[in-house]
Amino acid sequence: MRYHSTRDLRREWPMTLDGALSAGLAPDGGLYVPEQLPHRGVRDFAEARGLPAIAERLLAPFFSGSLLRDRLGEICHAALDLPTPIVPLAGPGVGGPSAVLELFHGPTAAFKDYAARFLATCLAGLRQRDEPVRTVLVATSGDTGGAVAAAFHRRPGFRVVILYPEGRVSPRQAHQLGAFGDNVHCFRVAGTFDDCQRMVKALLADRAQAARFALTSANSISLGRLLPQMAYYAHAALAYLAEGQAPPTVIVPSGNLGNGLAAILAREIGLPLGEIVLATNANPTLSEWHASGRYQGRPSVATLANAMDVGDPSNFERLAWLYAGRDARAGGIRVERVDDDTIQARVREGEAAYGQVWCPHTACAVEVMERLRRQGRREPMLLVATAHPAKFDSVVEPLVGHAVAPPPALADILSRPSHSEPMVAEAGALSAALAALG
Ligand SMILES: *Cc1c(COP(=O)(O)O)cnc(C)c1O
Repeated sequence: MRYHSTRDLRREWPMTLDGALSAGLAPDGGLYVPEQLPHRGVRDFAEARGLPAIAERLLAPFFSGSLLRDRLGEICHAALDLPTPIVPLAGPGVGGPSAVLELFHGPTAAFKDYAARFLATCLAGLRQRDEPVRTVLVATSGDTGGAVAAAFHRRPGFRVVILYPEGRVSPRQAHQLGAFGDNVHCFRVAGTFDDCQRMVKALLADRAQAARFALTSANSISLGRLLPQMAYYAHAALAYLAEGQAPPTVIVPSGNLGNGLAAILAREIGLPLGEIVLATNANPTLSEWHASGRYQGRPSVATLANAMDVGDPSNFERLAWLYAGRDARAGGIRVERVDDDTIQARVREGEAAYGQVWCPHTACAVEVMERLRRQGRREPMLLVATAHPAKFDSVVEPLVGHAVAPPPALADILSRPSHSEPMVAEAGALSAALAALG
């Protein structure tokens, strides 16, 4: 299997998977995509049980020609042996079979753990002994940085440089990002997530800098994050099928569109999933695109669901590639936007209505489910819970009126001291900081 850039329509620079995993971003600034999507039907998963085994079957065609091919099973078991429970939802607002796909059972209590661990395991597997230390650059709207830091923490041959927008992540997230130490360096940027992402992209696209600092990316633009995220959707789709249920409508809280795109890709590859509904916060880019068919990136707006504060979702380029020449909106994709007042209401009422405390991102999916049910839809719905509510204590606790205890792995990280350095929102500042790290 070969990969090329979303911008290289003539496919002049095909890459192996290993090259695409290592580079992160294509040299022309585009995102790596496979030359063609393999098909995986239900039969390809016969006897595969559990997330690692399903991931191995799902990803095998993508790893053909990779040096990692024979170790794919091992990689899936090392990286993806985390629970992904599907928890039925009961309550007066449910109005049909609804369940929550809980993706917050990794070390940093957000869905990004699954893919970050997979990418780190792959990159460690590709590393040659005499290579210089690689620098993993990561711009984060809150959760990516922690997941990537946890995945690479104390891994020989790697260091992580995190950029996060100062004041735009939750205090607990900020603490977590600075709490790793060792080979993890954390910078708080005076700007937005989009600024952080722009700085990272500028350095990755600059060949001289990328070579000088042995740079790679671990953002959701990285193919090594997109691919494994398909696995939990495959796992869920097969679970619905095994129970004789119709393919579920999947509601994915979305920002940079990595997770939602993985659901769309899993369906495109052949897994039985229904409509994919992207639940966004007040940032209007995706809902405007869905309404008008025109995509127009915008500056990001700060909201209570801060990990989705993205005005120009990077992965839209992959969606455009996937639906080249077709209208993606006709292909079972819907976008629903949720404002801060509604997020607050859904979090506040979560315990009374469903016996659940929602994180602000997951609350967007809950709102969208209720909207669809009000429109009379009765099919199975699967809501993706992207983070544990304790990560967003400053938003959630005042609304629910009590403390929300972090899960043990998160509590452990939060008990450590935290340190970050300030940075102005310019690519030059990042490059100077990398030089200073030596
Ligand atoms: C990153 C994140 C999202 C958005 O995911 P994308 O892949 O960027 O669309 C949603 N919720 C939480 C909790 C996140 O950390």
